[in-house]
Amino acid sequence: MICPECVKGRLYGIAHMKSIEMECPRCKGTAEVPDIQAEWIEIGKEIKRLRLENNLGLRAGAVELGIQPSILSEYERGMRNPEDLKKIVEEKYNG
Ligand SMILES: [Zn+2]
Repeated sequence: MICPECVKGRLYGIAHMKSIEMECPRCKGTAEVPDIQAEWIEIGKEIKRLRLENNLGLRAGAVELGIQPSILSEYERGMRNPEDLKKIVEEKYNG
């Protein structure tokens, strides 16, 4: 699938009053992500929805799960296989 986060593999933004351009970290500049990530992105949205429903910020949600906020953010953006997060949750709540 086409990378949902960049323009042809590049990211554009403004930092310190200057426009910046960088290689997209999700697709590593290829502008394409594996098709499986389309599914991960949908599941990630659901993870985020559940977190917000429980009134948890990113940091609080990560603490709840015992993982780093940056890692939780990657799950929510579909950059990591949500199966791994499912295992973390199952171990925490059913283990
Ligand atoms: Zn990209």
